[in-house]
Amino acid sequence: MPELPEVETYKRYLDGTSLNQIIISVKVIDNRVLNIDESYLRKFVIGNKFKSSIRHGKYLLVNLEQDYLIMHFGMTGDLKYYNKKGDEPKFSKVIFHFENDFNLTYTSRRMFGRIDIAESIEDFIEKKNLGPDAYKMSLEEFKGALKRRSGIAKNLLLNQSFVAGIGNIYSDEILFKTKLYPKTKIDTLDESKIHELFTNIKEVLQVGIERKGDLSNYPNHFLIPHRKKDEHCPICNTGIERNEISGRHGFYCPNCQKKSP
Ligand SMILES: [Zn+2]
Repeated sequence: MPELPEVETYKRYLDGTSLNQIIISVKVIDNRVLNIDESYLRKFVIGNKFKSSIRHGKYLLVNLEQDYLIMHFGMTGDLKYYNKKGDEPKFSKVIFHFENDFNLTYTSRRMFGRIDIAESIEDFIEKKNLGPDAYKMSLEEFKGALKRRSGIAKNLLLNQSFVAGIGNIYSDEILFKTKLYPKTKIDTLDESKIHELFTNIKEVLQVGIERKGDLSNYPNHFLIPHRKKDEHCPICNTGIERNEISGRHGFYCPNCQKKSP
């Protein structure tokens, strides 16, 4: 499932291919990925250009002169820029056709991704109740988001209204790097642990962005290559354990990430 590093990769791809070209037409192959009417999408997009883009959490917001085209990639979403008609990628759902005869297609194998229009970034973030972006937030914003929060660490990291962009895999990695048991109560963390957690959120996401979110390509000392049954911790060689928290299957090292007494 695309988490923040993958969506950042899509953002850079869109910026590198699709900005500042007039959009001549839009082909909607499957309108189930639209949160808006097709006619409404066309009205906002055709004749305009993608001016710039901003990522917030797992959302990509593309500036169309005044409004924003919003893309969420769900479980399997992706973008592809191509020119030949015969090369229309499999699972294309919405195709933006530019004046230079190239196309940008939003693909999704499953129907969980969504395309929408918003008038401003602030309105959108408020409507979706999103917390600060996990990669761009400051330490002050992180501490502000932590105020009055309780509950367990793993759930909080997954909660997009706390901080936006972290999903199941990166939350496990961040907890592993911080040596935090996934069910640690967040309001028991002291100042230095909060600082460490903040630093590790940034570092884990940074490595993810550098690797374009490709999970097959992580350093061995990360938990990611060991997210399997019968794997061992790359730090202490203890057997990795699997847990289920709020319906998500996660992994952790019971030795490095000890339960607090
Ligand atoms: Zn370990």
